[in-house]
Amino acid sequence: MSIEQELGRKLKSGIRKDEPMSMHTSWLVGGPADYYLCPADISELVEIVRFSAKYKLPLYVLGNGTNLLVLDGGIRGLVVNIGEPFCYINHTDGGFAAGAGTPMTYLAASAAREGLVGLEFAAGIPGSLGGAIIMNAGAFGGFIGEKIGSVKLVSGSGDLLNLKRADLIFGYRTSNLVGIGVIVEVKLELKKGDPEESLKRMEHLMVERRDRHPNLPSAGSVFRNLPDQPAGRIIESAGGKGLRIGKAEVSTQHANFIVNTGGASAADILALINAVRQLVRDKYNIDLEPEVKIVGEER
Ligand SMILES: Cc1cc2nc3c(=O)[nH]c(=O)nc-3n(C[C@H](O)[C@H](O)[C@H](O)COP(=O)(O)OP(=O)(O)OC[C@H]3O[C@@H](n4cnc5c(N)ncnc54)[C@H](O)[C@@H]3O)c2cc1C
Repeated sequence: MSIEQELGRKLKSGIRKDEPMSMHTSWLVGGPADYYLCPADISELVEIVRFSAKYKLPLYVLGNGTNLLVLDGGIRGLVVNIGEPFCYINHTDGGFAAGAGTPMTYLAASAAREGLVGLEFAAGIPGSLGGAIIMNAGAFGGFIGEKIGSVKLVSGSGDLLNLKRADLIFGYRTSNLVGIGVIVEVKLELKKGDPEESLKRMEHLMVERRDRHPNLPSAGSVFRNLPDQPAGRIIESAGGKGLRIGKAEVSTQHANFIVNTGGASAADILALINAVRQLVRDKYNIDLEPEVKIVGEER
């Protein structure tokens, strides 16, 4: 029996073969995933994880694809998208829990409307809650890690784990949840506050983003900031703004963004990432580290 037949029989949600990842990444690049799956619920996700463990098929977890450079050769094995079925918000006795597929902006606005504040920084971050936790996404001085009460995930062997605050470690754009499993639900710890004030702050931050960020396809900041300097400032002063390879360009608006000006390949973007690193190394002897995750195979 083929993978499609065996796995397809277990899943109502179906299975797509050779799915172009360019359809699922904010850079609009990336070759095919061998098998692309959108589980309808936790039990389907568990089936998928157990199947991948049984047949030793690599499994890659995809949120909104807004921090990923998927290479042009695509991803071997299974890609599992934690999307719409995992987009929900539950109020439990004094708590606030959300599915890992919930978009960050929606989450922040919904919490604020309930009078729960502290997620304003997340307005405009285009990722899902699950992706945000893995990356410890943050902006304007806030980051998601400091708001987490507990995390429910499906481990690599298909067991449901519930990790408490004390089990979690968050660093700058990283967490100790990388490689542990698939995040399915998160309990947030938010303070009570004024909904109107919170929504107004979010609106203000969204406007600031619109002014500062290019509106061409990107993956946000490409490189990690240094402890004392933003990567964008270093790239700009090294003369990197506007640098171009193929259809990929270092944004003339924000030097830590690489934009797809239309029809770029992942190879263009990767070559430009390497060119920027070389430029900064030559000029300042600084080795910039990518913040975006580079996955898959080159063509
Ligand atoms: C225009 C723009 C602006 C941005 N601004 C910011 C910003 O201000 N601050 C910031 O921190 N980031 C920013 N980003 C980057 C990105 O939005 C964040 O890193 C976001 O948190 C990634 O979430 P995602 O769902 O897109 O994750 P993906 O890109 O899909 O995945 C990121 C990583 O998380 C893993 N992952 C995703 N979901 C799960 C899950 N459920 N369980 C386990 N692992 C999972 C993936 O395997 C991958 O390793 C920006 C991006 C863009 C395009």
